[in-house]
Amino acid sequence: MEQRVSTVTPRGICFDLDGTLVDSLPDIIDSFLHGFTHHGLPAPSVAEVRALIGQPLEAMYTRFAPEHATTLCVAYREHYPLNFHRRSRPFPGVERVLRTLRERGYLLAVATTKRGDMARRFVDAMGLGGLLHHVQGTDGFPHKPAPDVIHHALKALGTGGLWMVGDTTLDLRAGQAAGLKTYAVTWGTHAHEELATATPDELQPDLERLLHHLPPLV
Ligand SMILES: [Mg+2]
Repeated sequence: MEQRVSTVTPRGICFDLDGTLVDSLPDIIDSFLHGFTHHGLPAPSVAEVRALIGQPLEAMYTRFAPEHATTLCVAYREHYPLNFHRRSRPFPGVERVLRTLRERGYLLAVATTKRGDMARRFVDAMGLGGLLHHVQGTDGFPHKPAPDVIHHALKALGTGGLWMVGDTTLDLRAGQAAGLKTYAVTWGTHAHEELATATPDELQPDLERLLHHLPPLV
């Protein structure tokens, strides 16, 4: 990555999407399990699926049915775009936190393992599109915990990064690899104990504490 000149104040904040900004896990799990039912295959439990959320779709299906992973991915990609908004909604206070950070002068991006086209549709459907400066999907480069998606997001924002906010250890390790401070939120995929193993700078039940770290820039 090209280094920004030191006189430019970094003001980029990166957020994971599913389980961090949006409570989307029920719709994702429904679509994930749909493929098994549709093809008459034995389905894993919700808990087994939940434990893998945050990994790429192909990797998740390979864990349960390696010989059917490609077929199941196709089924998911047909089902999810038609059903992704049924139960999903932003977590409490997310819009206000994002709006406040924008007003304070920060640049905000999503950095998700979702594909870019689906991530943008999802952000807009949840009413968050106008609050984010950029939505970065993972298209054709290594997924988290590799830092690539964060590097792409910050490049699009045109600034250095300050914090990576996420609900899994994958998010935290990606943020650390990109040289950002990391903020873990416990309302998503991974429990407090698991998130603690990645030693985030903050480990919180919601996003409120982020505002304490990020005062107005001007
Ligand atoms: Mg997540």
